[in-house]
Amino acid sequence: MIQELASKVRSGGRLDRPEALELYLHAPTPLLGELADAVRARKHPGRVVTYIIDRNVNYTNVCVARCNFCAFYRPVGSAEGYVLGFEEIFRKIDETIALGGGQLLLQGGHNPDLPLEWYEDLFRAVKQKYPTFKLHALSPPEVIHLSRMSRLEVPAVLDRLISAGLDSVPGGGAEILVDRVRKLLNCYNKATADEWLDVMRHAHRAGLRTTATMMYGTVETVEERLEHLFRLRDVQDEMGGFTAFITWSYQPDHTELGGSEATGIEYLRTLAVARLVLDNFDNLQASWVTQGGKVGQLSLAFGANDMGSVMIEENVVRAAGAAYCMDEIEIVRNIENAGFIAKRRNMHYEVLGDPIFRDRAVPRMLELAVARADGDTSRPPEINRYAARSAAEKKARLSEH
Ligand code: SF4
Repeated sequence: MIQELASKVRSGGRLDRPEALELYLHAPTPLLGELADAVRARKHPGRVVTYIIDRNVNYTNVCVARCNFCAFYRPVGSAEGYVLGFEEIFRKIDETIALGGGQLLLQGGHNPDLPLEWYEDLFRAVKQKYPTFKLHALSPPEVIHLSRMSRLEVPAVLDRLISAGLDSVPGGGAEILVDRVRKLLNCYNKATADEWLDVMRHAHRAGLRTTATMMYGTVETVEERLEHLFRLRDVQDEMGGFTAFITWSYQPDHTELGGSEATGIEYLRTLAVARLVLDNFDNLQASWVTQGGKVGQLSLAFGANDMGSVMIEENVVRAAGAAYCMDEIEIVRNIENAGFIAKRRNMHYEVLGDPIFRDRAVPRMLELAVARADGDTSRPPEINRYAARSAAEKKARLSEH
C-alpha cells in the first residue's frame, strides 16, 4: 500500500484523506522526505531557497481572547500589558530598513481599546512616512475582532484596512481548523474554522494574497491535522490566494494548557505530509524559529523551499519557550550549507536578489529584540485620541488627569 501511494505521488497524483493518513501514520520517515523533496524540486527546480527580511512586530499583548495555548497575551488591565506607540513602530521600521527589510509582519492581541480607526491611522501614518514599505498585517481572528467591535462586516473592515495601506494578510490564528479542537483550546470564540477560512476568502476576493499556518501538537488527532490541510487545499482550489503554508509545533512553556512539545521528527513528518497534501500551494516555509537551525536545514529536505523571515524581533513563541535567533548571515549560511542557493524575496515570493550583506555592510542581529523593554509601562500619546472601552483603560485615563 505505501509503495503504491509513493508511486501515485511520484507520478503527480492527488492524495485523498485515507491515503494521506496511511502515509502520515505508516510511511518510513526517509521515504516521506524523499517524496516531499521530489515535490519541492518539481515546483522549484534550480535549488533556490528563499527568505525574507522583515520584522515581526506585536503591537499589543492585551487580549480578550485568552487562548489556553498562548503565553504571550496579558488580560485587560494587567500591569504587564502594553500598546506600542506610532513612534515606537516607526523606530522598528527604521531598524528594519537598515537591515535591508521592506515589510512588517504586524500582529497582536485583541485589545478592546484599539478601535478600527487606530489601525487605519497607524497604517496611513506608516505609508505616509514609508511609501514603499509593506504591511503584512492582522491575521483572520484580528480582522474578526475588528469586525465585531466596529459592527461592520468582514469585507467592509478589509476594505477600510486596504484603503489605509494593508498589503497582505498573515495566516496566523488558524491553529487547527477543526471546531472540536478550537473549543478545547479556547479559540473557538475568536474564530471558528469556517470564520477563519471565510476571512481568507474575503481577503483573496479583495485582491490580497495571504499565507496559511497550522499549529499542531496540542489536543488534536492526526486525522484532525489532515482535516486542517484538506480544508486549506479546498480553499486554495477555490480562491488560489495563498502564497505559502507554514506549520509549527505548539510551544508549551508558561501556557495554561501545558504539556510537552512534539519532536523534531514529528515536525519533519508533518511538514512532508503537508507538502504532499497541499499540491496547490507553491511555497512551504521551514519553521526554524520553533525547531532551531539544524531541523530548519533538514526541513529543506522534507519539502520546504523557504526559510521564512530573518528574526529581528520575536515575542509570541519566545514567551512560550522558543528563542532561536538568526540574522541574514546565519539564514544564508544555513541555506548554503544544506546545498541550496539563497535568494531574498518579497511577500509574493518574487526574488529580489542575492543576500544583501554581500552588497553592503548591515548590522548583525545576534540577539532578538523585544516588543518593548521589560518594565517599560509607558502609554503611547495617541491612545487618548480613541474612546476607551474597557473599565481598566477608562480608569487609567482618569488617573492621568
Ligand atoms: S493566541 Fe492571539 S488571540 Fe489567542 S490569546 Fe494569544 S494573543 Fe490572544
